[in-house]
Amino acid sequence: MSRKVKIGEVTIGGGEKIAVQSMTTKPTKNADECIEQINELHERGCDIVRVAVPDEESARAIEKIKANTKLPIVADIHFDYKLALICIENGIDKIRINPGNIGSEERAGMVAKAAREKKIPIRIGVNGGSLEKELLAKYGGATPEAMLESAKRHIEILNKYDFDDIVISLKASSVKKTIEAYRLASQAFDYPLHLGVTEAGTSELGIVKSSIGIGSLLADGIGDTIRVSLTDNPIYEVDAGRNILKALGYYEGIEVVSCPTCARCRINLIDIAKKVNEAVKNINKPLKVAVMGCVVNGPGEAKDADIGIAGGDGCAVMFKHGEIVGKIPENEVIDRLLAEIEKI
Ligand code: SF4
Repeated sequence: MSRKVKIGEVTIGGGEKIAVQSMTTKPTKNADECIEQINELHERGCDIVRVAVPDEESARAIEKIKANTKLPIVADIHFDYKLALICIENGIDKIRINPGNIGSEERAGMVAKAAREKKIPIRIGVNGGSLEKELLAKYGGATPEAMLESAKRHIEILNKYDFDDIVISLKASSVKKTIEAYRLASQAFDYPLHLGVTEAGTSELGIVKSSIGIGSLLADGIGDTIRVSLTDNPIYEVDAGRNILKALGYYEGIEVVSCPTCARCRINLIDIAKKVNEAVKNINKPLKVAVMGCVVNGPGEAKDADIGIAGGDGCAVMFKHGEIVGKIPENEVIDRLLAEIEKI
């Protein structure tokens, strides 16, 4: 099992709840816009949010952003150790930086010392697309083994400066390479792993790639925090992350199961299922709710659901654990189902 790492008020690793992360797209230096987006992601169910820190103005904006948001915030920093130091001074909760890429070990040591004093963890983010040249030559490309060695090098630098509060990610745009790299990392280290498939693309393919990559690893018990990267509004990254956790039974919310419909269905099930899904999204009850197309097969097929409806002709029946408990006109199906869920 991985060790625990605390990021603000959220603890990851060591069997803690798997945290869903996302990243803002608004410029961090425009603190007000960034705050608005972070709070929107929070409301959507995001657990940890990362912000890009490309310049000093952005690093200084962290203070205001922290004062006006509740989510733990991770600063994404490339190459410039001074930005990391400013973020640490300004109350950041975690830094994502690769200590081997900031010019000298001495600089890495300064970041490690400042982070240790404030109990701020560091994520080492290995990316298959930006591996060290000598590792690419040694392994003949960005192989999972090359990614693992890169991670080891960065870890060694931090360890040398007595820093061990580390989270690791090893993202590649290839789903198979990503899975393999994380499997190797889970055997090599006990640091918590932040899972993600990088450059996954727009929602349609990106969600599929991330679900396979992140999902396969989580199903094997690997991974402590996840980010679905999408070329889209980050609220959809949060939705997709939560849905991956739901699909694997890691999320304590309502799971809605619904049938694909067939010629036996006589109600507008697609519309009902979509509306029920939307309505229960933020209800934190560990329930399974079934939305089924017909009475012939619905209650039986979904008998493990706590509650559900099955379509009839212009009406539906409500059932609980497979037993029919009442009949409802079609236009009242959603309201009545939600009212029953509320009572449970
Ligand atoms: S539950 Fe009924 S409507 Fe839905 S797929 Fe099965 S048989 Fe068809």
